[in-house]
Amino acid sequence: MVSVKASVLSDTNGKFSLKEVEVPPLGERYIRVNVTTATTCGTDVHIWKGELPAPMPIILGHEAVGRVDEAPANSKDYLGKPLKHGDRVIWGFVDPCNRCYVCTIENLPSSCPNRRAYGITAGFNDYPHLNGAYAEAIMLGLNTPIFKLENDIDDEIVSPVSCALSSVIKGISVLNPRLIDRALVIGAGPLGIYACAYLSELGVSKIVSADLVDERLKMASQFGADFTINMKEHQSVESIKRELQRLLGDEGPTMVVEVAGDTRAVDLGIEVLSRGGRIATVGAVVKGEVRYDSLMFIRRQISLRGSLAYEPRHMLEGIRFIEQTVDKYPYRKLIGGTYTLADLERVLNEMREKRIIKGAIMVTR
Ligand SMILES: [Zn+2]
Ligand SMILES: [Zn+2]
Repeated sequence: MVSVKASVLSDTNGKFSLKEVEVPPLGERYIRVNVTTATTCGTDVHIWKGELPAPMPIILGHEAVGRVDEAPANSKDYLGKPLKHGDRVIWGFVDPCNRCYVCTIENLPSSCPNRRAYGITAGFNDYPHLNGAYAEAIMLGLNTPIFKLENDIDDEIVSPVSCALSSVIKGISVLNPRLIDRALVIGAGPLGIYACAYLSELGVSKIVSADLVDERLKMASQFGADFTINMKEHQSVESIKRELQRLLGDEGPTMVVEVAGDTRAVDLGIEVLSRGGRIATVGAVVKGEVRYDSLMFIRRQISLRGSLAYEPRHMLEGIRFIEQTVDKYPYRKLIGGTYTLADLERVLNEMREKRIIKGAIMVTR
């Protein structure tokens, strides 16, 4: 292979161009994977619209499935399984250093100060250039957690394990969920829908999904939510709180997962939590301020936790989760359609306008 097609975003004017990109030599430091399918993520939309800083030009795309094209001799996946040409794989979008304090002592490679995030912080001008999934091939650094896929579940169903699903699994895990929990999931986009399904499989006692869009709430019900609240029907936080008390009892939710992408959802979550309640903020990756009454926060002994992306252990859990529940939840409904690399602008626009939850870019076969 001499060159591959890649969709390159040049700057924030929102124009992608399909380019033929020369494939650099593999050397000993990379594994080259042919991307078969990449699914779109809200982060793509934020970068495309200039709401999240990223190096330009850039090949976006960080949620994908592919097949190993070429790997250095004796390459192995994260669990030690040998990797060879043709193996179907999924990989984490963060390539950490695995040596710093954050990686080793905190065990949070997602926050490694030396990390490269494919399609997010690794630009097209950074060697080896093929650093995003909206291209026929991606060059993965050797610290990237790669998992060999041994199922035959369709690419577009498995692909979200590499961002949305694993991020949600981590966001819930940091709250140490219990069977007696009453959970409130704020936001019923892709993360919120996965959150309902995962909480449901964990067996927490009650799950409430809250959003502003009825169709999304309907979807959350199909993915395990026991109750839904359309926040548009409520004039105030007080009114939402009363509705939660009606559904869950006077103490309200014991845990809140914010996957709405808005700091106001964090304010709301803190306000409605029970005494001793815990809240994880996963979606509000925007500049903003969280407001809470500090006296109430202390009196009620609330725990607030930020959760960024995921660690390899959450990805493994994500793969198992999809394998175990593929026939139980209508995952196909999360994919609004299939597209090609040339359609990126259109699919990101459809996501932005909330007409689809995700799009699947069919890259190679
Ligand atoms: Zn993502
Ligand atoms: Zn590190």
